[in-house]
Amino acid sequence: MTELERRLCGRFGNRLQTGRPLADLTSFGIGGPADLLLVVEEVAELVFALCAADQAGVPAFCLGAGTNLLVSDRGVRGLVLRLGRTFQQLRIDGSRLIAGAAAPFGRVVETAVAAGLGGLEFGEGIPGSVGGALVMNAGAFGGELAQVVRRVEGVTRAGVELALEREQAGFAYRKSGLPGGFVVTAAEFELTPADPASLRERVAVLRARRQARQPSGLPNAGSVFKNPPGQFAGRLLEAVGLKGYRLGRAAFSDRHANFIVNLGGARASEVRELVGLASRRVKDRFDVSLEPELKMVGDWSD
Ligand SMILES: Cc1cc2nc3c(=O)[nH]c(=O)nc-3n(C[C@H](O)[C@H](O)[C@H](O)COP(=O)(O)OP(=O)(O)OC[C@H]3O[C@@H](n4cnc5c(N)ncnc54)[C@H](O)[C@@H]3O)c2cc1C
Repeated sequence: MTELERRLCGRFGNRLQTGRPLADLTSFGIGGPADLLLVVEEVAELVFALCAADQAGVPAFCLGAGTNLLVSDRGVRGLVLRLGRTFQQLRIDGSRLIAGAAAPFGRVVETAVAAGLGGLEFGEGIPGSVGGALVMNAGAFGGELAQVVRRVEGVTRAGVELALEREQAGFAYRKSGLPGGFVVTAAEFELTPADPASLRERVAVLRARRQARQPSGLPNAGSVFKNPPGQFAGRLLEAVGLKGYRLGRAAFSDRHANFIVNLGGARASEVRELVGLASRRVKDRFDVSLEPELKMVGDWSD
């Protein structure tokens, strides 16, 4: 037993899991085990766990709903943290919505619409948690989180509680500049009062547009690549012949080439190979460097 495991076991007992496979905690359904997995239920627990990992020099990774992740077949070394149900609370205060970081992003969108608060409709159909959506600056149909976030609360890698204003969060296209290892615990959104019926109508339009474009039925992690400036990654991938292209049990969707789907039993190594193949083909043919939106995490050593 390592020193970190001893300390965490001392505080959390059998809530600390060792060698826990992560595949079922991701939308891809792919991935090996975490050395240590802990679900924290309050900020003080998160502070304790992060301090302990930091002092032991062990990496800590925060897993959200796992909808934008490719976890390696070998899994994740160190400590994987998840936020429990107590981090799912939502509260409305005037035109502000305050959400715990583990709250499903879809529920935040629904709550805002029902309360007649506009600004989050773009998020209809984006799976995942509030924390993941913030870190990724999730967006669609011209909207993104950065437009409506006012404040982000969390804990630094060293276990210090910190609140950041939007300007300090370094939001850019599908990324944020939050401090390395920062775990988001809550966020405050500034929304605009609007007629709930027209918000619902807009959500329905966006839902239909999404359903018409996205592959359904097979496990995936959303768009694999970001769209390069002025272009669509999906079109480039289609142009280099990758729509429907298969490797082992993984394949580029035949519905939308910028999605890789797990046909059942896919390995992370197969998905990663497809990502590499696509990058090379698009670079060779169009001299465009594709940047993955999908986050590849864990131990990729051979
Ligand atoms: C079918 C499908 C459709 C999608 N459509 C869209 C779309 O339209 N637009 C879009 O932007 N994305 C889309 N995605 C991708 C994904 O849903 C978003 O990126 C989502 O915001 C990720 O949230 P998550 O909780 O699943 O994060 P995870 O996948 O668990 O993690 C993503 C990153 O966020 C970090 N993270 C998660 N929670 C926290 C936290 N509390 N504190 C600190 N770091 C944290 C992780 O460490 C990781 O680096 C789609 C995915 C799927 C499967």
